[in-house]
Amino acid sequence: MNKYDVIISGASVAGLYSGYKLAKAGMSVLIIDRRAEIGNPVRCGEATGNRREIERFFPYDESYIARDLTGLAVHVNGSEELSVEIPDTGVILRREKFEQYIANLAKKAGATITLDETVTGLIESETGYSGVNSSMGYITGKFIVAADGAESFLGREAGLTSHLKPRDAYTALQYRIKSDKFNDGKMHFFSGNQSIPNGYIWVFPKDNGEVSVGAGLFGSHKKGEKAATYLDAFMAEHYANCKKSMLITGCAPIAVSPKQLTKANLLIVGDAARMVNPLTAGGIMNALEAADLMGDCIIEAHRKGSLKPLDRYSKKWNGTPRFIQKVFFVIKDIYSQSPDEEIIATAQAAAKFLAKLDRSKLFTLPFSALFPMIRLYSGRFIKWIPWLIKG
Ligand SMILES: Cc1cc2nc3c(=O)[nH]c(=O)nc-3n(C[C@H](O)[C@H](O)[C@H](O)COP(=O)(O)OP(=O)(O)OC[C@H]3O[C@@H](n4cnc5c(N)ncnc54)[C@H](O)[C@@H]3O)c2cc1C
Repeated sequence: MNKYDVIISGASVAGLYSGYKLAKAGMSVLIIDRRAEIGNPVRCGEATGNRREIERFFPYDESYIARDLTGLAVHVNGSEELSVEIPDTGVILRREKFEQYIANLAKKAGATITLDETVTGLIESETGYSGVNSSMGYITGKFIVAADGAESFLGREAGLTSHLKPRDAYTALQYRIKSDKFNDGKMHFFSGNQSIPNGYIWVFPKDNGEVSVGAGLFGSHKKGEKAATYLDAFMAEHYANCKKSMLITGCAPIAVSPKQLTKANLLIVGDAARMVNPLTAGGIMNALEAADLMGDCIIEAHRKGSLKPLDRYSKKWNGTPRFIQKVFFVIKDIYSQSPDEEIIATAQAAAKFLAKLDRSKLFTLPFSALFPMIRLYSGRFIKWIPWLIKG
């Protein structure tokens, strides 16, 4: 029987970074993933924070950076309405290289990474959980980390999350193609009720003269068109003669994370804990930030031989990080019901809000950032205030 200090289900951003941090602190760590290869397939627009933000967690390395982002452009029903240069906006990753880089750090720190194996069960004990069942058999661990993505099996088994409701899912699909069109370093977003109601199409710059072109919808669209219909129409209009890569599909949670992130010695992190920005569906920086908070708590709990320090994980996340998620949840709700003429105002309000975040410390928030939105949406924003401050 294998025995570890920590078992982590999921070898993607949240699981790999958690494994690296905990192994570096001297704990024995096993990371299990059902994928056969780290980082593949890539189901991601690959846009993330800038080098300074990444460096808060580990050194940035040019090998995993495809391109620098230079700003933002918003198109409504085909016409470009907003185009802003934002210095140091962020970077476009080579996501598979990014994950492989973190995996190497974790391995060098002593973590074991096992691929092509699946976690299939959670074993209860008197004090919490003694380990997991997996395709490799029973494995015991003092701490169990669910970094197993949007459908988190372990999070559901522990009762911390449930199946993702259709309204809480961002469903997206994307192609990668070679083209100069909208390939100027900015992130281009296309919205508007004629182009894609209740969602957006994105064109993000990549390396080697390529762009990724994707479409995502907020929530379920049983009666409406599917994201593929809007993406195909967009491709036919702008990239009709370009050779498309394989179509990649994916789903990200766009709910707000649950308040309780731990149960006894089990902890949820990343998409498993719904830590994605509900408006942009960006979750990479949040996954790193949360894994960092969680890692500190596990290390302390291990050192003290007590589960008490784990409570601090939920408390810390429920402060500013979860509050920011809630603000973006409200913006998303307003955006998805806005008439076309308000989309630009929404984009400007979100851009101003983003510009005011102190990105050297990812999660700090000047409350003055909320005032433009309160002014802009008056009644529609004010009705959310009790929920926002409820905690
Ligand atoms: C189409 C799309 C575009 C996106 N674009 C962006 C973007 O541009 N920028 C950004 O910041 N974010 C983006 N995101 C979100 C981002 O990809 C996620 O937030 C991020 O991947 C979260 O990482 P994670 O480690 O929590 O989970 P995941 O990356 O989902 O990884 C979970 C891992 O767990 C493994 N796993 C699951 N169940 C089991 C099991 N039972 N046993 C073993 N292994 C298991 C899976 O194989 C997987 O490797 C996008 C998401 C989608 C769907």
